[in-house]
Amino acid sequence: MWWFGTNCAGCGVRLALGTTNCFCEGCLPAVERAQQWRPVGTLPIAAAWAYTGPLQAWIARCKNGMLSDPRALLPPMRQLLEQVTQDDAVLLVAVPPEPTRLRQRGLHVPDLLVDQLRGPRAQRAWLLERLDRAPVRRDRVRAPPVLRALGTHAPRPIVLVDDVVTTGQTLTTAADALRGAGLSVLAAICLMDARPQVLAQVLAQG
Ligand SMILES: [Zn+2]
Repeated sequence: MWWFGTNCAGCGVRLALGTTNCFCEGCLPAVERAQQWRPVGTLPIAAAWAYTGPLQAWIARCKNGMLSDPRALLPPMRQLLEQVTQDDAVLLVAVPPEPTRLRQRGLHVPDLLVDQLRGPRAQRAWLLERLDRAPVRRDRVRAPPVLRALGTHAPRPIVLVDDVVTTGQTLTTAADALRGAGLSVLAAICLMDARPQVLAQVLAQG
């Protein structure tokens, strides 16, 4: 794994060597924490960051196959995980990629996040399979994915992990698939929250 850690993840400007931030001083004021739990149906969903300019740029770069170092973005996501788990052990399940997209990019951000978040009390598990192969569409209006649970038993409850929550529909579809197979899903945590009410609140505060 390699990181482009010396450039701002938002605008790409060169950062001072040894900095722990992944955004420059110009982008940092536009980087906003989200961090509220907002359920969709029966699934609690929270994200670390609001989906504003520099973070949109970060995720766009990742989705174009250029990985920006996620580590400086992860501490608030770890806090969300701790809020869910308290002291209990869980399984981390990434929302799986649409297969043709994964082939194009070779990189799946939710998997990358799980890789960074996992530890003794939060182990990675592959419990979801994605069956749809919808063509890539530009209008962002997509049918929910077709997801199937891989198995009917898990030793621990599940926390779903995704990169961006937009409506929550993908996550609730994932939770439904797992719960329908008899598995327990506690919550979903995401890196970025693009839900309109979250962005509106962040903009009102700013
Ligand atoms: Zn910048």
